[in-house]
Amino acid sequence: MDVVFIGPPGAGKGTQAQRLCAKLGVPQIATGDMLRAARKAGTELGRKADEFMKLGALVPDEVVIGLVEERVQEPDAAPGFVLDGFPRTVPQAEILDKILAKLGRAIAHVVLLEVPDALILERITGRRVGETTGRIYHLKYDPPPSPDRGEGGERLLLREDDREDVVRPRLVNYSALTAPLVAWYGNKGLLRRVDGVGAVDDVTQAIFRAIGAR
Ligand code: ADP
Ligand code: AMP
Repeated sequence: MDVVFIGPPGAGKGTQAQRLCAKLGVPQIATGDMLRAARKAGTELGRKADEFMKLGALVPDEVVIGLVEERVQEPDAAPGFVLDGFPRTVPQAEILDKILAKLGRAIAHVVLLEVPDALILERITGRRVGETTGRIYHLKYDPPPSPDRGEGGERLLLREDDREDVVRPRLVNYSALTAPLVAWYGNKGLLRRVDGVGAVDDVTQAIFRAIGAR
C-alpha cells in the first residue's frame, strides 16, 4: 500500500508516519530526513539543500526528486511505503504519479493531517528528535525521559529550522505551494482528511480508520 502524508509543518506527519510504517511493515520515506542526512554527510546535494532549508524554503526539484525516485525502487519499498514531506507542490505530485506509473504502482491514500496554525508554533518549538533513532518527541506532549536525552540515553536534537523566524516562511510556503495539493488529490478521490488535534494515539486511530487499516 502506497500512502502519502500531507499537512503543515509540525502537524504530526513524521510522528504518525513512524507509527503507520510499524503497523504496515513498510518503510517511511521522509524527504526532510533524507536531506538532513545528506547535509550531515557533507555531500554536494546536502550542501545545496542546506542553502534552502535554513531559510525555510523548498529545495529545488532537481535536488529532491532523484532521491525519491531511487528510494521507492529499493527492495524494502516493494510492498508499499509511507511518503512524508513529498510531494510538496502540484508539479512534484505530477512527477510522483509518473514515477509510480512507470513502476506499475499508484498512490492508495493521501492522508491530510489538519492542525490549525495556532497550534503549529508550539508543536514545532517543543519538538526534539533522537540523534540515532530519529524518534520524535515533544517536550510537553510526548516528553522524553529528560529534556536533552531520549530513551536509551540518546542525545536529543533541536532542528535548526524549528526556530520561530524560520517557521514563519515554512508556514507561508505551505499555504502557497503545498496546500493546493488538497484540491488536487481531492479531485482524484484520494484525499483522506484527518483531524490532527488531540492525543497522538487518537490521531493514529483516526488515520487507521481513514485508510481502512486495522
Ligand atoms: P511533522 O512531521 O508534520 O513536521 P512531527 O511529527 O515532527 O510533525 O510533530 C511535530 C511536533 O508535534 C513533535 O514534537 C511531535 O512530538 C508533536 N506532536 C505530534 N503529534 C501530536 C499530537 N497529536 N499532539 C501533540 N503534539 C503532537
Ligand atoms: P520536513 O522535515 O519535511 O519539515 O522538511 C524540512 C525541509 O526540507 C523543508 O523546509 C524543505 O526545505 C526541505 N524539503 C523536504 N521535503 C521537500 C520537498 N518535497 N520539496 C522541497 N523541499 C523539501
